[in-house]
Amino acid sequence: MSHVVLEDVTKRYAGHVALAGVSVSVEQGEMLALLGPSGCGKTTLLRCVAGLTAFDSGRLTIGGVDMTGVPVRRRPIGMVFQSYALFPNLTVRGNIGFPLTVRRETKTGVAERVEEMLELVGLSEQGDRLPNQLSGGQQQRVALARALAPRPEVLLLDEPLSALDAQVRHRLRDEVRRIQHQVGITTVFVTHDQAEALAISDRVAVMNAGDIEQCAAPSEIYTAPSTRFAAGFVGNRNTLELRTSGGRVTAGGAFDVEAPWERVLCMFRPEDVSLRREGPGARALVDVTVFLGATTRVYVQAEVNGSPATVFADLPSRAAASLSPGDAVRLSVDPGHVQVFPA
Ligand code: ATP
Repeated sequence: MSHVVLEDVTKRYAGHVALAGVSVSVEQGEMLALLGPSGCGKTTLLRCVAGLTAFDSGRLTIGGVDMTGVPVRRRPIGMVFQSYALFPNLTVRGNIGFPLTVRRETKTGVAERVEEMLELVGLSEQGDRLPNQLSGGQQQRVALARALAPRPEVLLLDEPLSALDAQVRHRLRDEVRRIQHQVGITTVFVTHDQAEALAISDRVAVMNAGDIEQCAAPSEIYTAPSTRFAAGFVGNRNTLELRTSGGRVTAGGAFDVEAPWERVLCMFRPEDVSLRREGPGARALVDVTVFLGATTRVYVQAEVNGSPATVFADLPSRAAASLSPGDAVRLSVDPGHVQVFPA
C-alpha cells in the first residue's frame, strides 16, 4: 500500500481551478518532487497534504488513514518552507527542541533528540548560536532538523532551497537527499527548478495547470516525456514544427520517424544531435559556437523540408573544436530520441 495517496483532489479559488482532480501516490521512503511553472498548483497540493488548505473534493490518506477533518497538528507530517521561519530569539538547540517541548517530552528526551538531529544535519558545533548568527544554508538545516525532530511519517518541503545562492543550493540539495535516505522518510518536495527535481527525487510529478502531466523516474521524464508540456518543461530541447507525408516526418533527412498527424511538433535534446562533415542528414551551416566547458553548444541554420530552422547541438568540446561559424555540416538525430506530438 502506498504511504501517501491523493485521489481526484480538486481545489478552486473563487472560480479559478488550482487543482483539477489530482491523483498521485507516494511510496514508503520515497522522495517525490512536484515540478512545474509558477501557478501550476504545486504549493496548493502540498498544503492540502499538510492540512493547511482544505480541498473541495477528493480523498487523501496517509498510512491508510483518511485525513479528512484531521487538523494540521495531528497529521504525521513535518514541513520546511522557503523562508527559514526559525524563532529568532531561540538558539539552534531551542528551535530544534521546540516541537518536542510543546509535546511535553522529558527534558533528557528532548536534549538527546536535539543532539541526534544536530549531528544529522552537521551542526553539532553551532547548537548555541541564534538564527541570525547562521548562514542561509545553515538556517535551512536547522529548519530541516526541527521538522524531523518529532519523527514525522512524511516530510513536506516547499522550495526549501530557492532562497539560497547557487553554490549553497547545490550542496544543500545533495545534503537533503542524503538526510532523506538516512532517515528513510517519505518526502514530497516542491520545486520549479527542473535540475533540482531530477537530481533529488526518486520520481518527478510534472504539473501543469492544476494537474499532473507525467509522474515517473527522473531518467524516464527526461528521455521519454509523455506529453508535449513535459518534453518542453524538463531539460533543453529543440522543437521543429513540420508537415508529415504518408504518416512519416523526415526533417530534410535529419531523421525519419512515424507521425500519425498532419502537422507535428518534433522535439529532441541537443545532446542527441549529431553534426558531421559529410554523410547522410539535413544540410546545415554552423552559426555560433558557445564553449561551456566539457561540452560546446553549436547553433546551426538548417534547411528542413524547404524552410530554414535553427537547431542547437551539445557536443563534447573536443568534437566541436574543429567547427567554426560558416562550416557546412550534415545534421542528424537518432530517430529513437525524437518525440513527436500533434502540432
Ligand atoms: P509558485 O511556484 O508560484 O508558488 P505554485 O505552482 O505553487 O506556484 P500555487 O501557489 O499552488 O502554485 O497556486 C495555484 C493557483 O492558485 C495559482 O493560480 C494561484 O494564483 C492560485 N491561488 C493560490 N493560493 C490562492 C489563494 N489563497 N487565493 C486565491 N488564489 C490562490
